[in-house]
Amino acid sequence: MALPNISHLPPSFIVAVSLVTSLISIVGQLRPWPPTLPQGLLTLDIAGEVLLDPDATAGFSTDFGCLARAAPAAVLRPSAPDDIAALVRFSYSSPQPFAIAARGHGHSIRGQALAPGGVVVDMASLGHGRADRISVSFDNAPLVWYVDAGGEQLWIDVLHETLKHGLAPRSWTDYLYLTVGGTLSNAGVSGQAFRHGPQISNVYELDVITGKGEMITCSHENKSDLFYGVLGGLGQFGIITRARIALEPAPQRVRWVRLIYTHFVSFSRDQELLISMMDQGFDYVEGSLLMDHTLITNWRSSFFSKTNSEKIRGLAAEFGAIYCLEGAVYYHELAMASRVDQKLHLLLQRLSFVPGFAFTNDVSYVGFLDRVHDGEVKLRSMGLWEVPHPWLNIFVPKSRIQDFEVGVFKGILMPNNSTGPVLIYPMIKNKWHDEMSAVTPDEEVFYSIGLLRSAITDDWQDLDNQNDDILGFCHREGIQFKQYMPHYASQRDWKNHFGRKWDTFVEMKRRYDPKALLSPGQRIFTSSLTDHV
Ligand code: FAD
Repeated sequence: MALPNISHLPPSFIVAVSLVTSLISIVGQLRPWPPTLPQGLLTLDIAGEVLLDPDATAGFSTDFGCLARAAPAAVLRPSAPDDIAALVRFSYSSPQPFAIAARGHGHSIRGQALAPGGVVVDMASLGHGRADRISVSFDNAPLVWYVDAGGEQLWIDVLHETLKHGLAPRSWTDYLYLTVGGTLSNAGVSGQAFRHGPQISNVYELDVITGKGEMITCSHENKSDLFYGVLGGLGQFGIITRARIALEPAPQRVRWVRLIYTHFVSFSRDQELLISMMDQGFDYVEGSLLMDHTLITNWRSSFFSKTNSEKIRGLAAEFGAIYCLEGAVYYHELAMASRVDQKLHLLLQRLSFVPGFAFTNDVSYVGFLDRVHDGEVKLRSMGLWEVPHPWLNIFVPKSRIQDFEVGVFKGILMPNNSTGPVLIYPMIKNKWHDEMSAVTPDEEVFYSIGLLRSAITDDWQDLDNQNDDILGFCHREGIQFKQYMPHYASQRDWKNHFGRKWDTFVEMKRRYDPKALLSPGQRIFTSSLTDHV
């Protein structure tokens, strides 16, 4: 076929057409060039690690929540932190800057790790479990053990690597297939937080790539503004490529207890007693709401035998809602079993659970920490893992937790026959360094409430409406809660969320990511920073 003669067309038309239809060769294939990215990206050494293929970008267009969807223009699969820095520097200095989101494992709920029209950095390509990206060392005088872990590393891999040295991090999340950079950008909370603080309170040093593409090592002593800003900073000031995390000698076994309560007041009083006992009490304290229509053994762990499940179900049916306090005592294999029994016995004596409703298991430390993974495997096999997850996590001040129980558990969840895990456990504010970006209620003790519901019957909108009802109830009642892994649509809400930390947060953004390139999926700074102050 003859080529059309274009000599009669105006040059501007030819330029426009050639721009629109511009095809470039990436990894040997012809792809349309995304209009949101400058073509100069192709001149960088990292061009070969940039994927434009819709099949590649599709995998980075949503997250665990399955509620938000937006495709990036490209995905960077870095082989080293330098590659990420090169990408950020290029965007920062380009007349056409583009957004960049580090994606840990994509376990966000509301698109926080998406980069619509920008570039998602697939942190996993730095190498999960790569030996040179997780290394255990120590400092002398005083003796301090720590692990240097890449921001992309999964906590499960950090656990296995540190255990080779008989050591382990002190503070965890309930689920370990999350990344170091992802949880440190939020807080990282679980039943150890009352004692050791959240994961962000257990970091000595960070390597961070700022929104200008600078690679900075920061700590309490060096660039402390960046260090504390990044901890709980929702990815706004830099991409964490290494974290130095505190370790302790690892226990080997865990005596794991679940105690059932029919009254919330005794349940929460006992939880508060236990967290006040620090190392004299449990090593881990959590709790949950069980309703008669809820599976007692849910996906988050199979703990109860069939007989005990039936027994508990009976109690739940009688009371409508009951509460399960969960505790754990860690011990070393060489410890005398009788000592562990005695400690547990003394602790249980002080608590007011329903007589006959204390259940104990003895498991390995790894089995305990990795307890949620079995549930994931089961749900995946049933096709129930990749479904919408309209989760809501909030921190509620202790002074209002009884009101919350009445208004939310009894007033909203029970009448709606809500199913899915509902976590309830207290934490202590003084374990959270105030300079960190993460925000908590203004009370010394506050509760972490996690409504971890899955929409398996196309009902995610109904569940999300319930979430709105819960937040609406808290607002009406003047409960000064804070969202954990927050999701807000307006600048005003973000300002309220950060409260007295907001001005510092904005100032930090101006200092370290003035073009608002990083983690756009959080939707805090949606355009040039000067529009927001
Ligand atoms: P992503 O979702 O990929 O990213 C989260 C945010 O951090 C994004 O804004 C992203 O751009 C940014 N980010 C990612 N990596 C980096 C990096 N290296 N540097 C800077 N910014 C980065 N949380 C708890 O605290 N406790 C729990 O017990 C807990 N259990 C969970 C169980 C399940 C099944 C799931 C799905 C989530 C759970 N979470 C829990 C929430 C979890 O902490 C968040 O999803 C968190 O975002 C970590 O997920 P991720 O590593 O996949 O990060």
